[in-house]
Amino acid sequence: MDAMSQAKLIIKVGRLWDGLGGLPQEAMAVVVEGGRIALVARQAELSLSEDPGVEVLDFGDATLLPGLIDCHTHTNMPGTGLSVDQVHWDGDDIHLLEGVKSARMALESGVTTMRDNGGWNNVVFSLKEGIRREIVPGPRIVASGNPVTITGGHCWMMGSEADGVDGVRGAVRRLIKDGADFIKVMTSGGSTRGSMPERAAYTLEELKAIVEEAHLRGRLVAGHAIATQSIANCLDAGVDMIIHCNFMEPDGAERFDPKIAERIADLGSWVNPTLHVRKAATLKLEEKRERGELAVEEEKALSANLERVDRRKEVCSQLISCGVRVIGGSDCGWGAYPFGQFHQELRAMMEAGMSTAQALTSGTRDAAEALGLLDRVGTIEAGKEADLLVVNGDPSRDIDDLSRVVAVFREGIRVK
Ligand SMILES: [Zn+2]
Repeated sequence: MDAMSQAKLIIKVGRLWDGLGGLPQEAMAVVVEGGRIALVARQAELSLSEDPGVEVLDFGDATLLPGLIDCHTHTNMPGTGLSVDQVHWDGDDIHLLEGVKSARMALESGVTTMRDNGGWNNVVFSLKEGIRREIVPGPRIVASGNPVTITGGHCWMMGSEADGVDGVRGAVRRLIKDGADFIKVMTSGGSTRGSMPERAAYTLEELKAIVEEAHLRGRLVAGHAIATQSIANCLDAGVDMIIHCNFMEPDGAERFDPKIAERIADLGSWVNPTLHVRKAATLKLEEKRERGELAVEEEKALSANLERVDRRKEVCSQLISCGVRVIGGSDCGWGAYPFGQFHQELRAMMEAGMSTAQALTSGTRDAAEALGLLDRVGTIEAGKEADLLVVNGDPSRDIDDLSRVVAVFREGIRVK
């Protein structure tokens, strides 16, 4: 993004939500130069230079906000309801093509940075490189490559089964060699057939080795953790972000543990609760029921899902009440959650107790901090990369206005 991003651009909007904690400001302008934000000012204060090389875009009454940051996606997955066990058989070529589609959908919906939390073999690294070379459009991708998982553990088929302290150290080093920006580790089982979500996967010794290897090389660690024991292990090992955080006991029941929640809050670890992904599956089943097409076993799945959606919401509100830093990450691509609907996750976090401003912050500024990118993106401030989103309406009042996308800029280049 060189020649074009050197150009100077002025974006005028009716409302600016900069992600810095204040109320939206009216009649604002942002000056973009060389792909970065050069100046943020009131339109009235801006002396429009006569320079004919300056492009002025006036979006009238629309709202400008930082590009969204989705800290949990799976670009190789179609988000159509297929399981990871099913998608596995598509092979890498199809996984990459899915990735191309996912990246475009995410970008057009206003997501300018996304973390990919696990795909097959080196496919996500290839996708990231294809976007960097401008072969295909897409957000800035922060990639883990394959999740590190025990033999037969959650997502083992993606390619990084590793066991024992030496084995996991080797896996982390290999992933970083291949291009991993962060390490994703399955600290408990999950929905992959045969894995055990109610049990911790790695021993504490193995998990500590993973975190130590990653941190030694400047990489953050995100831990998928369904089981209560695996959440505790993440805290003991120094995992930076806890994903899902279900508090599932060995008997399969989910019981919130306030002591562990307090520890999460004290340590300042991020929690990415992934609320909407279960709801998306539920909505799909409800649509099927309305059409009278629901099979008997799907009827059972629907009522189990409805219960789990409520329980997840309840756990998330308790985490928020305990002062845990809860972060926006959709898990889209997984299950029946398609790309391009990140606002659904932010809405779900509001249903769990966040204010509209908190939800927006969790999908912009806080997400940038959690990914270690706050010096570059996440807010609208001079010096930051010009990753910007323009929407109709005012998402600081109605989060659904995030879906009324007018324009998206990545590093100052208009991509929608
Ligand atoms: Zn996921």
